[in-house]
Amino acid sequence: MKGILFTSIISLFLIACSDDQSGLQFKDQGRDVPEFNSRNAFSFIEDQLAFGPRVPGSDAHREAVNYFRDHFSETAGQRSVFVQQFEQEIYNETLPFYNVLVSFGGEHTDRIVLAAHWDSRPRGERDPDNPELPIPGADDGASGVSVLMELATIFKENPPPIGVDIILFDGEDYGEEGDLANYFIGSRYWGQNPPVPGYNPRFGILLDMVGGEGAVFPKEVHSVNFAPQLVDEVWSIAAEKGHGELFLNERGGRVADDHVIVEQYTGIPMINIIHHRLNESGQIEFPPYWHSQKDDIDIIDRNVLQAVGDVLLELIYNRIPVD
Ligand SMILES: [Zn+2]
Repeated sequence: MKGILFTSIISLFLIACSDDQSGLQFKDQGRDVPEFNSRNAFSFIEDQLAFGPRVPGSDAHREAVNYFRDHFSETAGQRSVFVQQFEQEIYNETLPFYNVLVSFGGEHTDRIVLAAHWDSRPRGERDPDNPELPIPGADDGASGVSVLMELATIFKENPPPIGVDIILFDGEDYGEEGDLANYFIGSRYWGQNPPVPGYNPRFGILLDMVGGEGAVFPKEVHSVNFAPQLVDEVWSIAAEKGHGELFLNERGGRVADDHVIVEQYTGIPMINIIHHRLNESGQIEFPPYWHSQKDDIDIIDRNVLQAVGDVLLELIYNRIPVD
């Protein structure tokens, strides 16, 4: 049974464009664009928080995987969902990890990929009162996933003009501060053990902390290096839609995240939309609730989710030239 599932998902992740930059050209296609519902996205965050912190090895972690599997089976179809499961020893503990892979429009060879990490941090060392306690991860984890879940709902009703894959990476936020080798566990495993060898979508977009109050998204530096045309297009769409205060037209920091791992292992040009800013001495700062107990539902701003959803829908449905 496992074998059958695996084969059917392989046939859905097909090989797309070659290495040239033609996959990063954009133009208004005059197509209709469906509406993003941030009310739904907000409720998907609430659902995830209701499990408790989704820390690898916990009950909440396992329950959340089933929740994602259900949602994506309903939207993409059961045969288009594949959970890549593995175990890894970290800090002297063997833990289970699950990357959730979903494929929409399996008939298209021409594809893009959207990603977010779904795990929540096992400790909130930025919290002066409870540095050892797992964090709720409303923005750091759940927000990106919630936007992808709402997009999936939309893809079901309105098949996009290009194939779209969604990946929820596990274990992004497991490492202790400064120990980058124990971050990005899911994306690294996926990069080293590709479920579909030769998988080559045009580009990828990673969402990380895309629902918090006071959010700003300057142009993250790795993203600009990997796919400058895509960064330009996304930030231009945002400006056109009046979200220039959110998607800042300025250079941000060099943020280590799953997109760097994906680019390293697969060459897929992936950008990161992530809430951060540079302080006066040019250092990266994350929001005040970051890696603390305050990263809970109260700091979620539906308008931020809405803006991110609107920009992505415009890009996916109306800016990508397809044959
Ligand atoms: Zn984090």
